[in-house]
Amino acid sequence: MSHCPFCKKKIAMSKAFCSRNCKENYFQLIAIQIPKLFLKRIYVFCSKEEREKEIASFAARHKWRLDLLKNKIEDEAIKMGYIKDPLA
Ligand SMILES: [Zn+2]
Repeated sequence: MSHCPFCKKKIAMSKAFCSRNCKENYFQLIAIQIPKLFLKRIYVFCSKEEREKEIASFAARHKWRLDLLKNKIEDEAIKMGYIKDPLA
């Protein structure tokens, strides 16, 4: 047994992803780059509403899916210590 690298579902060894959708999401997630300064700006200098707007326009500018971008931003923010890991 192997695991889908995007959703972590169990899949057959012969498959790389559980679905075409997961494959697309996975590669899009890898392509998303979040500049450290952008991260700092939205977490240190923006209110929650401003942050939502900044993230939405960042996603639109790069044509990234908003939900994927949000996930990645949260991951990075946890790593950088701007927010606490809800699972920790
Ligand atoms: Zn999957």
